[in-house]
Amino acid sequence: MIILKSKREIAIMREAGKMVYQTRKYLENFIKPGITTKELDKLAEDYIISLGGVPSFKNYQGFPSSICTSVNEEVVHGIPSKRKLKEGDLISLDLGVYYQGYHADSAYTYGVGKIKEEYQLLLTRTKASLFAGIEQAKPNNYISDISKAIENYLKPFGYGIVEEFTGHGIGKDLHEKPYVPNFFYNDKGEKLEPGMTICVEPMVNLGSKQIYLKNDNWTVVTRDRKVSAHFEHMIAITNEGYEILTK
Ligand code: MG
Ligand code: MG
Repeated sequence: MIILKSKREIAIMREAGKMVYQTRKYLENFIKPGITTKELDKLAEDYIISLGGVPSFKNYQGFPSSICTSVNEEVVHGIPSKRKLKEGDLISLDLGVYYQGYHADSAYTYGVGKIKEEYQLLLTRTKASLFAGIEQAKPNNYISDISKAIENYLKPFGYGIVEEFTGHGIGKDLHEKPYVPNFFYNDKGEKLEPGMTICVEPMVNLGSKQIYLKNDNWTVVTRDRKVSAHFEHMIAITNEGYEILTK
């Protein structure tokens, strides 16, 4: 069942979303060669708490850290570690904040220092696919309109769109109905209506779409070890269209 949110609830989620955005902007200052993902995690945790929020991901189904840090071939759910970022790496930061009973969730991928042109293109295009999807978010459209827009935008580039993980509804729970796939799979999906709050989050591989789960039972990695990008915003469906809550 899809849980529609009231104006009051969306106002809280807007506050939580703003904290996610502020945390992301804060962390951007620290993305440099030599910093470890564990250090980024600590900075994020302290900052989220200083804003009055709680890191959504900490202990979520046993996740050991406050944020997800996925480097290069890691697609999503990377666990912060002593791994040092190097010039030319890609790092995805996936951030969640819990505030007054509601979650906000957003992810962005960054280059560390100077990166290869094909990596920069992957970032630019994955982010553009997110916004192409969001543009379809309006009442009486369907979830699949978002999915199709993402897939169609990416198709010419030949990237691998990850299928095993998708966007999702969000609210009192970090993951609610409906699923928001980044590709079309022959189903219109749910009709969009005002009060729905969803995360749209394409995960896009430079090479093939094949992924696997590492032994830590969290980190998702590309099978061909080529890099991956991930961009996510949390949005609310409004009477007119959408509002991005994580900016
Ligand atoms: Mg996320
Ligand atoms: Mg999400």
